[in-house]
Amino acid sequence: MNAKVWLVGAGPGDPDLLTLKAVKALHQADIVMIDDLVNTAVLEHCPHARIMHVGKRGGCRSTPQAFIHRLMVRYARQGQCVVRLKGGDPCIFGRGSEEADWLGQHGIEVEIVNGITAGLAGATHCGIPLTLRGVARGVTLITAHTQDDSSLNWQALAQSGTTLVVYMGVAKLAEIRESLLAGGMRADMPVALIENASLPQQRECRSNLASMQQAAQDFRLKSPAILVIGEVAAQPNLQLAAISA
Ligand code: SAH
Repeated sequence: MNAKVWLVGAGPGDPDLLTLKAVKALHQADIVMIDDLVNTAVLEHCPHARIMHVGKRGGCRSTPQAFIHRLMVRYARQGQCVVRLKGGDPCIFGRGSEEADWLGQHGIEVEIVNGITAGLAGATHCGIPLTLRGVARGVTLITAHTQDDSSLNWQALAQSGTTLVVYMGVAKLAEIRESLLAGGMRADMPVALIENASLPQQRECRSNLASMQQAAQDFRLKSPAILVIGEVAAQPNLQLAAISA
């Protein structure tokens, strides 16, 4: 049997947003290595698998990436069906391609299964279309959190006319605000801050570029959250309106 690892996206939180392909992979898993933003409710699809939590939050010591790499290789070579389960999509700020490269270099077949990324789910669950004819001709997914010294071209982003979706931005609101203002974005550009997207405890806070940091503070915004910055963030949440009507 060929050694194989599935890199599977678990989606943003709502277990019903798993793809059928993800469910099939979980069904046949012997070992599931799970990140901490994954909703453990999805594990109902793999009741017989051994579950290993390798995430970085929840007060646990983080599992070094190199160790995760070695474990995947070891178990796959033993002929076990390994599913590496990641929040959202494995290749959107998820190190999916790094893990795939490592596995490939060690002769292990990899199959990547898309998941719905948090930015898409968060916007949709708030009634925000990330692209909108005549308003936003594109969408840019960015993270303000970098491990190296590389920095984004904020001026280009500020003037791109695309909706910006920021991941891992909660601790960087001041920096994001200053960089976009300096880059020429207007101070009253609408912003939506979306916490726990797609989960029952989802919360959203609307503000604008100038006031988003204060708004986040008043709202006690916590991670995981995404920021949607752009004209489309002024769209009302019709889903909520319909529910409360
Ligand atoms: N691969 C993931 C992103 C991992 S980076 C994906 O495609 O969604 C982790 C960041 O994703 C968090 O800091 C947060 O910005 C965002 N995130 C993940 N789940 C989220 C959720 N349910 N609600 C809001 N943001 C979320």
